[in-house]
Amino acid sequence: MATASEGHVSEEKFCKLLPKVELHAHLNGSISKETMTKLLARKAHLPQDQQPDTQALQQWTDIVENGKAVSLDACFQMFKLIHQIVDDTEAVAMVTKDVVREFAEDGVCYLELRSTPRDVPQTGMTKRSYIETVLKAIQQCQDEGIDIIVRFILAIDRRNSLEAAEETIQLAEDYRAKSGGVVVGVDLSGDPKVGDARQLIPLLQKARTAGLRLALHIAEIPDQEAESLALLNIPTDRIGHGTFLHPEVGGSQGLVAATENHSIPLELCQTSNFVGKTVASFDEHHFKYWFDKGHPCVICTDDKGVFHTTLSKEYHLAMMTFDLSRKQLWQLSERSIDFIFADDDVKQTLRKHWTNERSKLQL
Ligand code: 5GP
Repeated sequence: MATASEGHVSEEKFCKLLPKVELHAHLNGSISKETMTKLLARKAHLPQDQQPDTQALQQWTDIVENGKAVSLDACFQMFKLIHQIVDDTEAVAMVTKDVVREFAEDGVCYLELRSTPRDVPQTGMTKRSYIETVLKAIQQCQDEGIDIIVRFILAIDRRNSLEAAEETIQLAEDYRAKSGGVVVGVDLSGDPKVGDARQLIPLLQKARTAGLRLALHIAEIPDQEAESLALLNIPTDRIGHGTFLHPEVGGSQGLVAATENHSIPLELCQTSNFVGKTVASFDEHHFKYWFDKGHPCVICTDDKGVFHTTLSKEYHLAMMTFDLSRKQLWQLSERSIDFIFADDDVKQTLRKHWTNERSKLQL
């Protein structure tokens, strides 16, 4: 795990040295520029009409690097493009190893990666080989001594069928046992404008009963009160985004009450929400609403590649926008340990590490 050095360091450096927990990271959204270059090089031999749209990728990078907002639809177009490039197990292995290493280099000590298992018949990749490749890459990172604990969450894409969701949950149950607890849960993500997640509730309840934990994207866009309430009341174990839960933004007191009654932590991704234009400015981010209430908040990246960010940058952004002290950032990162899906032994290991690092940061 990353070790903090002593002394008076800048706020940026402090955020990097701060030991961190990342709980909301989509594998294919987390691909760095460097890895993208390697992935594109693997496609260079293809005829022109089968080449990935590198121009679109470049345009996106230029816009996001300049700190501009785009739209949620444009974000989903990017994922489509990335999936065309990450289409075989070799690419999945490369992406997983690079992403894990990059999070470790950013001072992340515990990472929950999530990804949607995909079949690509043209390359022979199946959902099972996809999952096994990710698990093997995680193990290889550990064997190579990369100092980070990684767990894996299988994602259901809400654009896909009920049968596909059922299959993903079955796979999560299978691999939870086979992976010795590396697979810890199920995510629900994908374009929030598509479908009604209420149809998935019996499946999600079954997954939870089987011991899987739920990390569900909820209220990412406005006007989803009934769906959001139903998902909160499963209850989900964590909320992805939760941007439109509270009444000030068109949510409701009922949604806030359900979140508070079940004490469900929120995974908050500031840059992602700004670029996707679901929040108008950083200071209007719902972090403030929930943080001021003392409700469990976990700062996360979402898609560090697509949104050109790091977890350190997200902590720094919260610090600058909401005028948080170093001590408050420390408390946020340390409290995040309570909300991980790994078992109590891992929590104890992490808490010990945080205790060791604290004095080095002069807190
Ligand atoms: P993957 O599951 O392929 O590893 O990561 C990319 C996928 O994650 C996207 O296709 C999408 O389903 C999901 N995803 C990534 N970021 C977001 C987000 O901000 N909101 C939602 N709803 N889904 C996302």
